[in-house]
Amino acid sequence: MSFLLPKNSGRPLTLGIMGGTFDPVHIGHLVTAEEARQQFGLDYVIFIPAGAPPHKDQKLISSEEHRYIMTMLAVVDNPYFTVSRLEIDRKSPSYTIDTVRRFFQIYNNELNLYFITGADAILDIKTWKDYGELLEICSFIAASRPGYSFNKLKSIFGPAFKKITKKIHFLEIPAMSISSTYIRRRIAKGKTIKYLTPEPVEQYIYKNRLYLGSGAIR
Ligand code: ATP
Ligand code: MG
Repeated sequence: MSFLLPKNSGRPLTLGIMGGTFDPVHIGHLVTAEEARQQFGLDYVIFIPAGAPPHKDQKLISSEEHRYIMTMLAVVDNPYFTVSRLEIDRKSPSYTIDTVRRFFQIYNNELNLYFITGADAILDIKTWKDYGELLEICSFIAASRPGYSFNKLKSIFGPAFKKITKKIHFLEIPAMSISSTYIRRRIAKGKTIKYLTPEPVEQYIYKNRLYLGSGAIR
């Protein structure tokens, strides 16, 4: 078990896990995680940068170590946030179901698990590996995100909608149309990214000259 993962202390922990590419992490992720933590009484939120995201072109994303370090820098001032290397240390593609199963294993099933996503990700859930099992074994917190409507879930799930909403909790967060793509594009164009991501992350991006090439515009 990673030394960064919180330990059980006599009662099952309630954890939120937030998966993502985090290329780079930004305040949209952080506000979502903090709001989820408070509203759902989570003991901790664990950010899990994806190793080899099945849905994204691997040549175009920043290295795992850069994404991991930036995520660490972003959470360092929040005692309830931590980062796991579980997916970046795994050499095969990162599927959420594998990560969730691994968490139950690590905590001997003494765990309440919430998977935190944005609205765009939850609308994709039917494409996730073993999504039926995923909805059985953990709950989802789906945060509002400009441009994506939860109403679509009704047509996606049809008659099963009522059942799945027992496991998907909707979370309204202050509308933030910020995305990692938006940040990468701004950097490539020489525009400021101040306040869009925590300052240490901004410094890290400049220090390592990330997102400057044409590959950043994707
Ligand atoms: P990219 O533009 O590269 O896709 P992203 O900003 O969508 O980056 P991801 O790493 O893809 O960030 O997302 C990780 C998780 O965070 C996903 O569940 C996504 O829906 C959620 N998320 C990202 N940005 C926001 C936001 N502004 N508001 C709510 N949820 C968000
Ligand atoms: Mg995304």
